[in-house]
Amino acid sequence: MANRKFVEELEQEIEELKRTGFYVNIRTVQSPVDAWMIVNGKRVLNLTSNNYLGFANEPRLKEAAKKALEEYGIGPAAVRTISGTMSLHLILENALAEFKKAEAVISYQSGFKSNLSVIPAIVGRGDVIFSDELNHASIIDGCRLSRAEIIRYAHADVDDLKKKLSENRHKYRRALVVTDGVFSMDGDIAPLPDIVKVAKEYDAIVMVDDAHGEGVLGKGGRGIVDHFSLHGEVDIEIGTMSKAFGVVGGYAASSSVVVEYLRQKSRPFLFSSAMTVPDVAACLEAVRILQESEDRVKKLWENANYFKEKMREAGFNTWKSQTPITPIVIGDEKTTQEFSKRLFDEGIFVQAIVYPTVPKGTARMRVMISAIHTKDDLDFAVDKFIKVGKELKVI
Ligand SMILES: *Cc1c(COP(=O)(O)O)cnc(C)c1O
Repeated sequence: MANRKFVEELEQEIEELKRTGFYVNIRTVQSPVDAWMIVNGKRVLNLTSNNYLGFANEPRLKEAAKKALEEYGIGPAAVRTISGTMSLHLILENALAEFKKAEAVISYQSGFKSNLSVIPAIVGRGDVIFSDELNHASIIDGCRLSRAEIIRYAHADVDDLKKKLSENRHKYRRALVVTDGVFSMDGDIAPLPDIVKVAKEYDAIVMVDDAHGEGVLGKGGRGIVDHFSLHGEVDIEIGTMSKAFGVVGGYAASSSVVVEYLRQKSRPFLFSSAMTVPDVAACLEAVRILQESEDRVKKLWENANYFKEKMREAGFNTWKSQTPITPIVIGDEKTTQEFSKRLFDEGIFVQAIVYPTVPKGTARMRVMISAIHTKDDLDFAVDKFIKVGKELKVI
């Protein structure tokens, strides 16, 4: 007989989530992820996915996946260190290393797993991690798993980082400074050149998670290290192939020695099966497209700048956004939820983000711009934002 008390406890917690407004209603996408898609039975303009470059439904990626599927089958049915390393994995890792201008790359099953893989492999008891207070959940979990001491510094605040390094660094063996590259809720960019400088002063390792910088920042989407011309200065770059690449998967780019070490030591590489064939082939095709041309990345920025300018002209607050992640900050939680619902009625799919994901009083709609939006799409979105904004007396 199953444990009834346990199930009832969870039921109560779920009720509590619903009562307090923290219950997540999960919508269903019934078409490919594209500029327009069918969500809960309705055709809507997609301003929500991380599909920056339109790769999620790109014919070339689909063709590459199909071809590989025919040639190599579906999955390796093993972890990488036993019999799960297929030639395709190595081809992808080499292509990524070249793309990122790094010595070597190790790929993982997702960005989340990349952080869980890398952080506990490189720091442990007796070490210290300095972590930006707004870092992604997967960084936080990776830090916790490592059993190193965790010291949070104020968001993007290099003075605070320096103060904490100077007060604490000497008490520990190894020190790691870890930060998101682009912060996913605000769309701002980490002050990486200053972080690198301070970390050097205190003999710390620097790791940046470029999940939202991949395919977005730098030449042809090579990421934050390329954006700041910091090649060779950052110890480890984490990447994901689940956002701009439109597929799924993650990786760490670093020196050959670090990657060789991670192949021996990172637990999800040793104990969780390797990426499937179609995923690897599709990711590889995404890298090839980015290496051939910068057009998509340029179009992404053109679109983002156009949308932001129009929204600011209309009186909306685009917050700290420096990237295609465009928060439209409303402030009040209820109004923001209502705004997002009204936009959905009007044919626009945009996510409301409220406390506890962002601080109280900074509730927002998080608009994700893509290279595949047309100017008409963006004008349509701005018009609807203005219509609902006036209706709800936000502008
Ligand atoms: C989305 C995200 C991840 C997780 O990547 P997945 O490939 O979806 O697991 C990790 N880190 C950051 C900063 C992210 O934004």
